[in-house]
Parts: sequence; structure tokens; C-alpha cells
Amino acid sequence: MKVAIDGPAGAGKSVLARAAAKDLGFIYVDTGALYRGIGLYALRKGASPASEEEVTPLLREIEEEIRFIDGEQHVFLNGEDVSGLIRTEEVSKAASDVSAIPAVRDFLFDMQREIAEKSDVIMDGRDIGTAVLPDAEVKIFLTARPEIRAERRQKQLEEKGISASFEEVLRDVNERDYNDTHRAFRPLKMAKDAVLLDDSEMSPEESAQKIKEIISEARCR
Ligand code: C5P
Repeated sequence: MKVAIDGPAGAGKSVLARAAAKDLGFIYVDTGALYRGIGLYALRKGASPASEEEVTPLLREIEEEIRFIDGEQHVFLNGEDVSGLIRTEEVSKAASDVSAIPAVRDFLFDMQREIAEKSDVIMDGRDIGTAVLPDAEVKIFLTARPEIRAERRQKQLEEKGISASFEEVLRDVNERDYNDTHRAFRPLKMAKDAVLLDDSEMSPEESAQKIKEIISEARCR
């Protein structure tokens, strides 16, 4: 069974998808981590992540792989576990930039499909329901108002000891939304057959419960 969860940054996709996967005994694949790996590589090489001319040739040098260690996804870039290094703000921005390059999206396409062919998965991203797994049995488009997502993001940053003003975080959220929805190639878009879930007014427990219900209903069909 394939479950696709798409939506904008900060809607809570990863936390909810991970919890649902654990519950169901499925593997959870965070596809954003793959874009982050490529963003990190571009930064390390001194390339501008938004430049198609600079990033495309680098793909030939990259071998990226997902491995599951104690049930957790790790991303390996040319044999190095970069899972901890891809969570910085700088890499987030680079991931968003490289993700607009068609060659990058094509590069990761087969890998994502192959993973989903091997086992039951919950995959989260931006184009899973529309492009990567159009045949997924369950598609959820998870979103929340930008202000709510910025508030959650600010809290996460605070927990990491990073202080940022609400206005700054909101600007960043809006910018990423714009980039994700306006890129020409496979933009963030709700699949026609997806269930829309706006969790602005929901607690994490309520959202998790709702996702569980949507998946259970599909399994009974
Ligand atoms: O989900 P996460 O924030 O880790 O993703 C990092 C960036 O990678 C996003 O801002 C988005 O631009 C890009 N991405 C994408 N398609 C996916 C997953 C992530 O374009 N399937």
C-alpha cells in the first residue's frame, strides 16, 4: 500500500507521517531529505543552488541513498551519513532552490518510486500524489494557515536555541510556499483525488487521529 502526504513546509507532515507509519508498520520516507542532500552537496561545491547550469553537472558526481537504521531514515551522500547536516536553515533554503531544477527532480524520481515498490510506504513531500506515486491508494494534502505554520516553526527553532522573530519566520514560510507552488516543473499542488486536511485548528493528537481514520477507511475499501 502506498500513502502519499503532500503539503507546504511546516504543516506537520513529517511528525504525523512518521507516527502513522509506525502505527501501521509501514516505512516512512521523507523525500525532502533527498532534496536537502543535493542542496548540501551544491553548497559544499561552492555552486549556487538556484543555478541550473551549476547544479546539473554536479548530479553526475552524486550517489544518494536512503538506508533505514533502527527504523529511522538516514540519507547517505556518496557513502557519508549526512542526516544530521541537512537540517540547517542554509540547507533548507538550498533544498528549496535545487528542487526547482527539473534535472534534480528527475534524478530523484526513480529512487523514490523504487523505494515505494519494495514495501508498504508513507511518503511525504510536495509532488508525491501528483507525480511520484500517482497510483497511491491514499493521498492526503496536509496544510495549515501560514501564520500557524510560522508559529510552529518559530517554536521548533527556539527549542534548538535559535531565536528568530515571528515576522522573519513568516516571511521565510511565505517565500518557500511561493517557490514550491510557482516552480514550472512539478510544483506543489493538491492531487485531484487527495483528501484535504487543514490542521490549523487541530492538536497534533487530533491530526494524527484524522490521518489514521483516512488511511483505515482506504484499507477497508
Ligand atoms: O520537506 P522539507 O522541508 O525537508 O523539504 C525541503 C525542500 O525540498 C522543500 O522546501 C521543497 O522545496 C523541496 N521538496 C520538493 N519535493 C519533495 C520534497 C521536498 O520539492 N517531494
